[in-house]
Amino acid sequence: MSLTGIELALAIVLGQGRRLSLGEAASPGLYCALMPSHESRLSAAAREMRFSAIRRMSALIERPGIISFAPGQPSPETFPVEAFRQILAEVVEKESAGAFQYILTRGLGSLLAAVAEYAAAKGIRSKPPEVILTEGSQQGLDLVSRVLVDPGDVVLVELPSYIGATSAFRASRARMAGVRLDEEGLDLDDLRRRHRAETAEGRKVKFLYVVPSFQNPSGISHSVARRRALLEAARELDLLVVEDDPYGDLYFEEDPRPTLKSMDEEGRVLYLSSFSKILAPGLRTAFVIGPEEIVAKIEIAKQSANLCGSGVDQRVILACLKRGLIEEQKARIRPYYRGKRDAMLAALEADMPRGVRWTRPAGGLFVWVSLPEGMDAEKLIEPAVAEGVAYIPGGPFFVDGTGANTMRLTFAKEDIPTIQEGVRRLARAVKSQSSERL
Ligand code: PMP
Repeated sequence: MSLTGIELALAIVLGQGRRLSLGEAASPGLYCALMPSHESRLSAAAREMRFSAIRRMSALIERPGIISFAPGQPSPETFPVEAFRQILAEVVEKESAGAFQYILTRGLGSLLAAVAEYAAAKGIRSKPPEVILTEGSQQGLDLVSRVLVDPGDVVLVELPSYIGATSAFRASRARMAGVRLDEEGLDLDDLRRRHRAETAEGRKVKFLYVVPSFQNPSGISHSVARRRALLEAARELDLLVVEDDPYGDLYFEEDPRPTLKSMDEEGRVLYLSSFSKILAPGLRTAFVIGPEEIVAKIEIAKQSANLCGSGVDQRVILACLKRGLIEEQKARIRPYYRGKRDAMLAALEADMPRGVRWTRPAGGLFVWVSLPEGMDAEKLIEPAVAEGVAYIPGGPFFVDGTGANTMRLTFAKEDIPTIQEGVRRLARAVKSQSSERL
């Protein structure tokens, strides 16, 4: 390899005056130091991109022996692997090379029709131009934000809100305004106030993003009355509502509350749902049902994003729907997660010191814990990891910089005895940091 004059000069500087051999100068560490910087080539949006706090945290806390309440994933124990093995074999046998060809951007026609029927069974009526399949709801959120948001436009989000969504909106350079959430759902006075404040400044509010059922991260589910009132407020403010519903079918108590989309008589709700939490996220298949004009643009944006989804994944989902496997799965995994939720709530009740509060989710995968005001969940990570337990601090889920005293716990990953032990460890860590306060 040969070095340019500038690179050689740098090699001498980096070698602290000693002239480095060509071999040393070509070593990976030094080679990196000599490489040109590409920072100035990055787009303004990319310059602002950061790995999410959750990803940074995962690197810190994924250590052997740690009991983890951190991941935002369904349990692999729920994945129907044997059924997938059979279905995959049948897809290859029946369709041969055809199964591996590109498919239409909107998705396999037969799956689009089956998804429309699946949604109709939950009260969501749609016409074919209103439906599109995406590679996970995450892609749906990214595409929604690409087709709706110009830099500086306002997106209203819950406090706290799902980080994958706020990162997608941020990538479109949205300005996010947070609306308070209570145990019944969105605080609609706060919604009106935020909307008024943003529009008074001459900004355009493009949509409201909500996860009304068993929200990630808080586990909160909006009451039926609050859902109705939210739609009324949306009409009054002429707001588009983006409803993200990956957890609605994971209910543990009574029948599920109706989706906003099924209550929407005006076509102002754009609905996203996914098979990730019911079947398996590796099948990367989700769907968007919304106003035709928006879905048409999403299709065009999707074409440049990935041409199309995976025809193999979509054929597997179709076979699962046709065999009734999805309904079977739901019936199987609800008691599975309910048992774990119960164990976590009972352990919190038994072990947490006074002054710590938490939500009692009626479904989904998450419990949301609030430490006494003034405590910082990020600072608790070190003592918690030393005790051998991990969680996700809540601050990054708040777009307004609040929530430092909150944390997200999932009961999905660990088995019941491990959940109990993990909560004991977490309670010890909390007590060790809060002895003066509690
Ligand atoms: N929305 C919410 C609220 C989520 O929690 C997740 C995944 N954690 C997604 C969307 C994305 O899921 P997927 O892309 O697997 O459908």
